[in-house]
Amino acid sequence: KLMNGLNNLSFAIVAGIGGIMAIQGHITIGVIIIFESYARQFTRPLNDLANQWNTLLSAIAGAERVFEVLDEEVEAKDEGAAVALKSVEGAVTFNNVSFSYEKDGDTLDGISFEAKPGEMIALVGPTGAGKTTLIQLLSRFYDPNSGTITLDGRNISSIRRESLRAQMAFVLQDSFLFQGTIRENIRFGRLDATDAEVEEAAKLANAHSFIVRMKDGYDKMLKPDGSGISQGQKQLLAIARAILANPSMLVLDEATSSIDTVTEIKIQEGLQRLMKGRTSFVIAHRLNTIRSADRILVLKDGRLLEQGSHDELLKQGGFYSELYHGQLKRAAM
Ligand code: ADP
Repeated sequence: KLMNGLNNLSFAIVAGIGGIMAIQGHITIGVIIIFESYARQFTRPLNDLANQWNTLLSAIAGAERVFEVLDEEVEAKDEGAAVALKSVEGAVTFNNVSFSYEKDGDTLDGISFEAKPGEMIALVGPTGAGKTTLIQLLSRFYDPNSGTITLDGRNISSIRRESLRAQMAFVLQDSFLFQGTIRENIRFGRLDATDAEVEEAAKLANAHSFIVRMKDGYDKMLKPDGSGISQGQKQLLAIARAILANPSMLVLDEATSSIDTVTEIKIQEGLQRLMKGRTSFVIAHRLNTIRSADRILVLKDGRLLEQGSHDELLKQGGFYSELYHGQLKRAAM
């Protein structure tokens, strides 16, 4: 920045003084131009040096972050007696679960609910209500301060984390794609899947048609940032990946960004097939998803204010009905 400024300043000075001298007849325009280009050659090494200094500074900043990550505590070890799960029905209960990230104030406060196998649970509530935190507890990225969470009647703190997470698939707003072909990205759901199984999953997810329409089809390389395919297509791939993984529990974070209607319908269809027979937790923003949920959990400030079906909650006339008649209805339609 500073070097740029100095360069421009020196150009202005040379041009200004040169201009006056040229007008007075001491020198010609050609001399000014040549002088200017020599001046640039003189300052170029200085510029390079300044640029390299900037690169060095950002490298140091990067290194600091790497060490921060390295210094992070590793996840708590599984208890010695923790077991690996075999098959799972998908019955989930929260019994009076409280949790806080920091010492003071509960992020979740006395949450109790039950999800029967195969049910779809919608989590609704304002930003910061604790929806994501609830999912983090379910997948044991954190453990509750008090209360218990059970899966098929077994406290999840006695289940190995990897085993628990192998029962879950995540379809998030910004799904993780890596540099590799579309086929490899879908196969990430289950590494030993055959090509035929990958394509079968892509068909169920409604992703097959857009994939084969592309030049390289399933062999198309994706960039790590996922550029080159649309947001909606990314979601279809994430759904295909989850179908392939065949988990008994699902976590969906519905996209808030707008997706074109045709893709939206495809996503909804793919999700219907994916959710069938699996216990699903949906952080829901769309009214049609919320309406078709078996149970809606309405969270606010870490408390479970209300729970029930869409119709039941509307009849109660509480916070949900307020949300529904207010921004929810407008945002979701
Ligand atoms: P939601 O998903 O409903 O928007 P979150 O579960 O993300 O809400 O957040 C609930 C509360 O917990 C918020 O007040 C948020 O600031 C806080 N929170 C979320 N993650 C962390 C964290 N890693 N450390 C400390 N506080 C957090």
